[in-house]
Amino acid sequence: MSLSKHIDPDELIASLRENAPKHQPLRDTAATHHVYSGRYAASAEIPKFRLPDSGSDSHTIYQLIKDELDLDGRPNLNLASFVNTFMDPYADRLMAENVGKNMADADEYPVVQAIHARCISMLGNLWNVPKGETAIGAATTGSSEAIHLGGLAMKRLWQQKRREQGKSTEKPNIIMGANAQVALEKFARYFEVEARILPVSEESHYCLDVTKLRENIDENTIGVFAILGSTYTGHYEPVEEISKVLDEFEKETGHSIPIHIDGASGAMVVPFTGCCDGLWDFRLPRVHSISTSGHKFGLVYAGLGWAIWRNEKWLPKDLIFELHYLGGTEQTFTLNFSRPCAQVIAQYFNFLSLGKEGYVSIMHNALTNARMLSKALEASGWYTCVSDIHRKRGSWGYEAQRRLGQINENDAKLYNPGLPVVAFRFNDEFRKEYPHVKQASVSTLLRVKGYIIPNYNLPPNTSSIEILRVVVRESMSADLLDMLISDILSTTETLMKSDIVDIEALGNTSGSWADRGRKLVDAYVHPHDKDGLDLKSDSAESSESNLWRKWRTKGVFSTTC
Ligand SMILES: *Cc1c(COP(=O)(O)O)cnc(C)c1O
Repeated sequence: MSLSKHIDPDELIASLRENAPKHQPLRDTAATHHVYSGRYAASAEIPKFRLPDSGSDSHTIYQLIKDELDLDGRPNLNLASFVNTFMDPYADRLMAENVGKNMADADEYPVVQAIHARCISMLGNLWNVPKGETAIGAATTGSSEAIHLGGLAMKRLWQQKRREQGKSTEKPNIIMGANAQVALEKFARYFEVEARILPVSEESHYCLDVTKLRENIDENTIGVFAILGSTYTGHYEPVEEISKVLDEFEKETGHSIPIHIDGASGAMVVPFTGCCDGLWDFRLPRVHSISTSGHKFGLVYAGLGWAIWRNEKWLPKDLIFELHYLGGTEQTFTLNFSRPCAQVIAQYFNFLSLGKEGYVSIMHNALTNARMLSKALEASGWYTCVSDIHRKRGSWGYEAQRRLGQINENDAKLYNPGLPVVAFRFNDEFRKEYPHVKQASVSTLLRVKGYIIPNYNLPPNTSSIEILRVVVRESMSADLLDMLISDILSTTETLMKSDIVDIEALGNTSGSWADRGRKLVDAYVHPHDKDGLDLKSDSAESSESNLWRKWRTKGVFSTTC
């Protein structure tokens, strides 16, 4: 019998379900109130595409949706993301109590507005708005919206100036490094500004290359996006050096180019670690605006960003709408109107409950743990880190670290600045000795244990380099870190010991990891449940299955399934 190579599970299930005898649903007995006795437990599919004609009791629906969501990754083990996944239970409570309030209803919820204004003052202060200037800003749904507002303000100011000078406003451009997060490129495309994307290199730490700045700016440059904390490697861009190049350009040409800081992560890390080479915030007059994600190192759940301008002078009037709505007058300059306010309240909660001291302690812990992970990976002899936070200040790259040896663990100032991010790859010796081991397999196998660690290419120009990346957030405790280190090392060892056939089976299988995992579990944990789907006869599947069995007996997957 020839076996089909692909099966659409939805089609298969639907065809079998139509043939199944329909039993009479229970009516009006106590059993109907039990979650798994109702129609969705076996005889009917939960509606996926059309609104069902009739509803169901909330308890059942809650449980069914909750059960399905169990298939998602676990947020705390999602080490791919900068986005915060833990909050104090009292913050959870405040959010739940205020989840019904709309941020846009300023008149109706004046206390929320006051809290919003206090957060903006606190952030302006944290980022050193000089005496005599008053920060203005707004909560947004994330850094992306905040970046778009920052970019838009720069574009409008440039247009105004050009019009006053009787010059063309046809061809605005904006500068960013090739390491730019997608939000920055989105701004350029959505708001019709040419993105001048400067190539990055190992020497520029995979960040905006200041030596390429002068040749790329001109009278049509509306601004520079400087990234405080590259998403690829955690390096900070040299804001003060960028500012100096723009000072010289202004001296030569009279054209003043402002800077918007994309501080999605870094603007909530640097003020507490004090580690950054040179100035980056409102102490530099050229920095007009700063954005951050409250939901990254602001330590709030997803759904919060901040856009702050040093002074209302830099927020053009035609971006501000005066609104007469529901009985009051309010000013609005965000892209969204209605939005949740619980995150803003949660941010205020963090500011008050943690204080500077709390943030300092959390950021130092995260950096200490990130350095520990970096050092352990390099000490294994298999990996090298592309991030540099564990190296002595001023020394970059793997070889530098090897010569320097250990430095005092506790003095953060001795280390290179950067986000608590570990970007790492197989070192050259490892790749020479184990050419058949793919780095992506480390990511795939760790996923089985629950860790989500992406493997991806560095920005264009350096994209031949693949990195694995771990973002060390506050919830990565020293204990969890120990487990992670031993799991990365044992996974790597397993791959080193596996032969080429095993590894190819792993690499060649299509479909999401979740699908493949489920198939394997079905075949080997519940083989009796499977009729007609004989995975063992398919050759690719078969070697994957053998691999699975071998690893299971070796205990590699002992914590799963
Ligand atoms: C996360 C991130 C963004 C996008 O922020 P959101 O809050 O997800 O919209 C932009 N820039 C950088 C550097 C980031 O890390």
